Amino acid sequence: MLVDSHCHLDFDEFRDRIPEVLAEMAGAGVSHALCISVTLNDFPRVKGLAEAHANLFATVGVHPDYPDAGAVAVGDLVRRADHPKILAIGETGLDYYRLRGDLEWQRERFRTHIRAARECGKPLVIHTRAAAEDTLRILREERAGEAGGVLHCFTETLDVARAAVDMGFLISFSGIVTFKNAGALREAARALPPDRILVETDAPYLAPVPHRGKLNQPAFVRDVAEAVARVRETDLATISAATTANFAALFRPPW
Ligand SMILES: [Zn+2]
Ligand SMILES: [Zn+2]
Repeated sequence: MLVDSHCHLDFDEFRDRIPEVLAEMAGAGVSHALCISVTLNDFPRVKGLAEAHANLFATVGVHPDYPDAGAVAVGDLVRRADHPKILAIGETGLDYYRLRGDLEWQRERFRTHIRAARECGKPLVIHTRAAAEDTLRILREERAGEAGGVLHCFTETLDVARAAVDMGFLISFSGIVTFKNAGALREAARALPPDRILVETDAPYLAPVPHRGKLNQPAFVRDVAEAVARVRETDLATISAATTANFAALFRPPW
C-alpha cells in the first residue's frame, strides 16, 4: 500500500480522466492520494474530489505562486478545514524562484496559513523554493512545529531538511529524486530517519523516470518510492510501509 501525499487532480489536465487515474492507482498498489488546494476558488473542486471518492483526500490553502488569489484569512481557512476529508492546511510557503520583487505578501500569507494550522490542529503542506532561510525562520517565529507538517517536493540541501526535521516536520520526495542530476537530493533521501519521509508525485508535473514526457499521475508514486528504496538500500515494501505509516501519523486520515 502506497499513498501519493501530494497531487493536483483538480487541474484541467485531469478533466474527465479521474476514473482512469483511479484505475491506474489501483493497478500500481497506490491506495490513496491527497489532492492539494492552490486557491480558494479551486478549493470546491478538490473538496468535491475528496467527497466523491473514498480514497482521495484534500487540503485547503493558497499557493505562494498565485499573487492575485486575493486575501486569505485565518478564520476562513479554519472554517473550510473543518471537514473529515480535509486533512491539512496548504499548500502554502515561499517561492522566490517563480516570483520576484517585494514578496512581503507571500510571507504574510504564509504566516496566516501557519496560524490557521495551529488553530485547527491540522498539519501544514509547505512549498519552499529558493527561499529556505526565510521558510525556516517563519516556521520558527510562528511556532509552526506545534501544527507539524511536510516540506513537499523537497529540493533543498540535507542541512535544510535536518533543520525542518528538528522542528518536527517531514520531508516529501517527488519524481525529482529519479532525475539523473539529483545526486544531492538522493543524499537527503538516503540520510533522513525512516519516520520522517513521505513520497508524492506533484502530478500533473514532474513525471518520474521512466515516465518522463508523460502526464504525471498518482500511480507513478510507486516509481518515486522505488527510487527512494534504491538509495536507502532497502526494498519497495519497506518504503511503502514506512511512508504510509508516516502519512497516517501526520495527516490522521479517516481510513
Ligand atoms: Zn508546491
Ligand atoms: Zn503542489
